[in-house]
Amino acid sequence: MGLIRNLNELREHFPALKQVINGRKIVYFDNGATTQKPLCVTSLVNMMNEGINGNIHRAVHELSARSTELYEGARERVRKFINAQYPEEIIFTSGTTAGLNLLASSFGGKFLNEGDSVLLTEAEHHSNIVPWQMVCERRGAKLKVMPVDEDGIWRFDLIERYLTPDVKIVSVAHISNVLGLVNPVEEIVSAAHKKGIPVILDGAQGIVHEKVDVRKLGCDFYLFSGHKLYGPTGTGVLYGKKALLENMPPWLGGGDMVDTVTFEKTTYAALPLKFEAGTPNFIGAAGMGEAINFTESVSEEFLRNHEKALTGQMLEGLGKIDGLRIYGTGKGKIPLFSFSVEGIHPTDLAMLLDKMGIAVRSGMMCAEPLIRRFGCHGLLRASLAMYNTSEEIDYFLKSLQRAVKMLT
Ligand code: PLP
Repeated sequence: MGLIRNLNELREHFPALKQVINGRKIVYFDNGATTQKPLCVTSLVNMMNEGINGNIHRAVHELSARSTELYEGARERVRKFINAQYPEEIIFTSGTTAGLNLLASSFGGKFLNEGDSVLLTEAEHHSNIVPWQMVCERRGAKLKVMPVDEDGIWRFDLIERYLTPDVKIVSVAHISNVLGLVNPVEEIVSAAHKKGIPVILDGAQGIVHEKVDVRKLGCDFYLFSGHKLYGPTGTGVLYGKKALLENMPPWLGGGDMVDTVTFEKTTYAALPLKFEAGTPNFIGAAGMGEAINFTESVSEEFLRNHEKALTGQMLEGLGKIDGLRIYGTGKGKIPLFSFSVEGIHPTDLAMLLDKMGIAVRSGMMCAEPLIRRFGCHGLLRASLAMYNTSEEIDYFLKSLQRAVKMLT
């Protein structure tokens, strides 16, 4: 496939964008939740379901060998994509949430003790709050929360006050799913590492909009979900530095994660299988590898300019609507916009927009502490992907104005 350099060509790869919803060609602005899939991904998944299907790693027969090759090929694809040093640093999961639960249970379970803390920020997804709360409860540890300011920007000026000796883990979002701002993650890695504290980056949104190089970021762990990156649902990656992963106990037990099993004692497989118990979603993982191939077939220059233009157009248009407040403004804004409109419930707006063929998200967006910090009970979120167009933004802005009028 040659490099894709224009929008019409890019959109041709996504049949979902041609759907008619409520009598209108869909305007899909809920990409922060999940993205549509290109044909190369659905074709590979279909081909595997139709026949290139044998359980991986276990059998000597040809179908098992072909599936294993696609699965391990995807691991190598991911390794290159994020510039990890070794393929065994790539653990396939069912998504960011599963990866964070694995880390909380395994890493947190081993290294958190009574009186210790896990440092988060106020702008985390529930997936990066609740698993830590659960392990803290078990281990007698607690959460520490670095605040954000009125614009949603990390109060990084306070970092030294938060990186106290009781902090044993820092776990923060690369990009918040509400604010759409690229956080100063290299800076927090550097500050934490000076004190010997490992850093986990929740890259569910970051992987889509930033070029991620885990060695440059210096993070100890990086997590993302395949379905937000144009890949299949039920797929994801936990990247971890080899030495750290080797030092962690397994999370789930079962087939494929063992070396030898007796009723007296089990010894575990080497990385990465130690963390991949049972039959993994090997078809999905191969599909995620294909999605990565696809994103890399889109010209970087086109992508950068296009995302910048979409962001500028949305910010300008939203800024003209009376009573509308955007949460998350500042440098490094991705095309993801959470906002409120004075006196109107976001769900009412989302329902009216749906009738106009526009898909947006409304509510707490799995970030209740952040939404409440802004004094809100919910927000509306329009999150764009590389396949969205300037014409769709025009239509969205006009429709939003119409809906606002209808509700005031
Ligand atoms: N973290 C962030 C920043 C997210 O945006 C999301 C999903 O919206 C998640 C974690 C959880 O991802 P998943 O539901 O794919 O596990």
